[in-house]
Amino acid sequence: MNYASTRNPATQVGLSHALAQGLADDGGLYVPCTLPAFNARDFDADDSLADVAHRLLQPFFADDPLAAHLSEICTTALDFPAPLVPLTPAHTGMLELFHGPTAAFKDFGARFLAACMQQVGATDGLERTILVATSGDTGAAVADAFHGKPKLRVVVLYPDGRVSPRQAHQLGCFGDNILTLRVAGNFDDCQRLVKQALADAGLRSRLCLSSANSISLGRLLPQMSYYAHASIRHWRTRGGELNFVIPTGNLGNALAAILARRCGLPIGDIALATNANRVLPDYFSGSAYQPMASLATLANAMDVGAPSNFERLRWLYPDEQALRGEFIAEAVEDAGIREVIAHGEARYGRVFCPHTACAVRVLERIRERGDSRDWAVVATAHPAKFEQVVEPLVGHAVEVPAALAMLLDRPSQAEPIGADFEPFRERLRLI
Ligand SMILES: *Cc1c(COP(=O)(O)O)cnc(C)c1O
Repeated sequence: MNYASTRNPATQVGLSHALAQGLADDGGLYVPCTLPAFNARDFDADDSLADVAHRLLQPFFADDPLAAHLSEICTTALDFPAPLVPLTPAHTGMLELFHGPTAAFKDFGARFLAACMQQVGATDGLERTILVATSGDTGAAVADAFHGKPKLRVVVLYPDGRVSPRQAHQLGCFGDNILTLRVAGNFDDCQRLVKQALADAGLRSRLCLSSANSISLGRLLPQMSYYAHASIRHWRTRGGELNFVIPTGNLGNALAAILARRCGLPIGDIALATNANRVLPDYFSGSAYQPMASLATLANAMDVGAPSNFERLRWLYPDEQALRGEFIAEAVEDAGIREVIAHGEARYGRVFCPHTACAVRVLERIRERGDSRDWAVVATAHPAKFEQVVEPLVGHAVEVPAALAMLLDRPSQAEPIGADFEPFRERLRLI
């Protein structure tokens, strides 16, 4: 399959090229030129997440050298569960996406991208440096996924003092082929540094630079597989479509669900739950698309004022009216997040992370409107990652999952760096 730029359908490249390049030359995002048509029965022989991913992604890998390795990529990268567990009241489930090594859903995409890049490198022999700006979860997932991989190096940039202490510890605990920089600035500064480096032709070619941000196809494609897997299991056991409420920031996770539905998987309605950054809810209620500076909220991995995958959504739905009629999008303020976390155990027997709490609140509103269909809340991170927000609200310590505890036991170190480009370029030269 070929991939075209959202800004020019005539710009077309193969999958390996799109993965290694990240953004198209014209600044657009790569999108598949065609979408395969499946139905739930096509997956009758598939049980595990890796099996479903392999079948679903085959058409997306067709004609690319990576196709020969897809099965192995799926089994090595998608080797932890994504269970759909029941949640009270009836007809409600929770898709738990936090059982990977860094306890957030970013592990699926990061591990898949790393397995693909390792294969691309084995084919062309090039040594690559992957840059990643992070507000917390992405950097840890990417660092963990690429740690120890031959011919691959990762430089993580995070805003010093603006991630949780556990997130900071995780970001700096890798070493070896992972360089962690704590930037004296905010997340936008980190993103700007990455963009400037990628635009620097000398650096770019000498270090064979690439990025691993949320627009990467290598992260988007595998995320479709947990929606496929969950909806097929639901279809087999209960019949009918499963509806999802998805915590949303850059729209990477939700876009994967939307693509999976387009490919014919038994997925019904998709509701986007944002925090107080309400660019998407405002758009879906009829306002013009109005990107803005992001607001800091309790659900900090969704503090996004200009969702980077919006361009892909517009490509999928060229007709704005049709697009607006297609999705529910609602914002949840910090007060609502606090309330859901504080009552989570009494009402649901669960402790939620602040991002998941946004989705829980939106589903509560959907239920209040009388909807009794089967819905699943998507749980994007383990609450132990956000203990400073969660623990005071639930009144006790949250148990840390084993994989996360292992990372927190390692020593951690990050190099300080200013927010200007020159020192960053100098540091990259020393690599
Ligand atoms: C990244 C992240 C999100 C937002 O996902 P997008 O793909 O950016 O919409 C939600 N929750 C958690 C825990 C995250 O790390």
